[in-house]
Amino acid sequence: MSERPLPAAEVLGAVPRRLHVGGLWRDAEGCRTFAVTDPATGSALVEVADAAPGDARAALDAARAAQRAWGGSAPAERAALLRAADAALRAERLRFATLIVLETGKPWSEALGEVDYAADYLRWYAEEAVRLPGRYGQAPTGSGRMIVTRAPVGPCLLIAPWNFPLAMVARKVAPALAAGCTVVVKPAEQAPLAALALVGLLAGLDLPAGVVNIVTTTAPAQVVEPLLREPALRKVSFTGSTAVGRRLLAVAADGVLRTSMELGGNAPFVVFADADLDHAVEQALYAKLRNGGEACTAANRMLVERPVAREFAERLAARMAQRRVGPGSDLACDLGPLIDERAVAKVDGLVADAVASGAEVLTGGGRIDGPGHFYAPTVLADVPRAARIVHEEIFGPVAAIVAFDDEQEAVELANASEYGLVAYVFTRDLGRALRVGEAVEAGMVGLNKAAIASAAAPFGGVKASGLGREGGPEGIEEYLETRYLAFDV
Ligand code: NAD
Repeated sequence: MSERPLPAAEVLGAVPRRLHVGGLWRDAEGCRTFAVTDPATGSALVEVADAAPGDARAALDAARAAQRAWGGSAPAERAALLRAADAALRAERLRFATLIVLETGKPWSEALGEVDYAADYLRWYAEEAVRLPGRYGQAPTGSGRMIVTRAPVGPCLLIAPWNFPLAMVARKVAPALAAGCTVVVKPAEQAPLAALALVGLLAGLDLPAGVVNIVTTTAPAQVVEPLLREPALRKVSFTGSTAVGRRLLAVAADGVLRTSMELGGNAPFVVFADADLDHAVEQALYAKLRNGGEACTAANRMLVERPVAREFAERLAARMAQRRVGPGSDLACDLGPLIDERAVAKVDGLVADAVASGAEVLTGGGRIDGPGHFYAPTVLADVPRAARIVHEEIFGPVAAIVAFDDEQEAVELANASEYGLVAYVFTRDLGRALRVGEAVEAGMVGLNKAAIASAAAPFGGVKASGLGREGGPEGIEEYLETRYLAFDV
């Protein structure tokens, strides 16, 4: 690969570490900071600002002060800014990918892919900014006229997780800015660096002060959650765990605050006996090991029709065992660490429970000793349906294989989850693909395909996987209010 990570010291030396509020970089109250660590080594990378509640309020004040002018700006101006951001991000691809590798440990090729994916949102919403829908029409009375327009909802709080520290932020910032909303960005404390760098990039593009603000903190419940009670805040867009999403929804209910919730998943990966098994195994490898399994779209339950279940499990185990586990900065490695020790302990607990209840380990099955938070790529065959691993989000490189007997049972098993983000269906029978694709309770379905995310498509789930969509024309609607003007001629 000709593109290589940049020297860590150079990239870390240039990354913003302070809060960005009202167009200025400033320290947190009391100059408090916290360390961001490299999950591949456990060692500290840099210290960033650790905001206090007053800092978060100041960021929201700045967003509120900037809202009127930004919301009234020409859509073409907002489009031009997002186009410039897209170009700048692609020009800085190596710098951003290096930051992502340092703070998450993910493989270099995946970090590069994440930068491209993030830039795709900036580009897509640059194009959408000038296409906001509206209508003018005659009312049924004949003399009446109706004008329906879209207006920005107002200042937004954008809360992101650590697993895609750049793309999850870009996926929110781009449609919000395109719609004319000002924002307060709150990246995850485990991986705030790419988000800080993105805000730095935007700030360098003559963005009016206060349009984009960023707050980093180790105490989100005390520092950021109170913003949901502030009347100045008009919307919260959250990506993270279902537990925190539920809590934020409860707080948002008080102020009848608009919300978008991209929450956890438990994706079924359904393989019928008539599927192209070579293809299904390769796609399963992607659906399971992308981001080391730390993806909301990760295949969590591999549901395989009984006649091919053993062969599928063995072939997947052989492919997973070939993965070279190590830090993303080592280009020879293609499976990175988990984010922290807590994540390793959780994955290990799920594997132990499955094995204790009768599952067979075909490869892996435990943590990898040494520095960093590594877990061996693991395939479990014959997993009992009651095992915890079938019902909980694994968020690690572990494939749990469950056999089924017919199409109806496959659908029942696929739907036996509180989650409904994404499902994958593999079969050569087109009618069955569509039947099962329509019957599974999921916001997204990959038919013979595991890589489904696209800036042009609506990403999001049903049931406990969330509310709302990100991406596509649907994504900008989350940041727009419908307004109706009536008059008689
Ligand atoms: P998390 O819920 O612990 O944290 C997510 C973000 O919320 C972080 O920035 C965190 O600091 C913040 N936060 C936590 N408590 C808060 C509070 N009380 N008030 C305000 N902010 C608060 O999730 P995580 O561990 O960072 O991310 C992993 C989860 O995210 C998984 O469940 C995964 O499925 C989900 N996820 C979903 C999608 C999707 O699009 N559906 C995408 C990526 C990740």
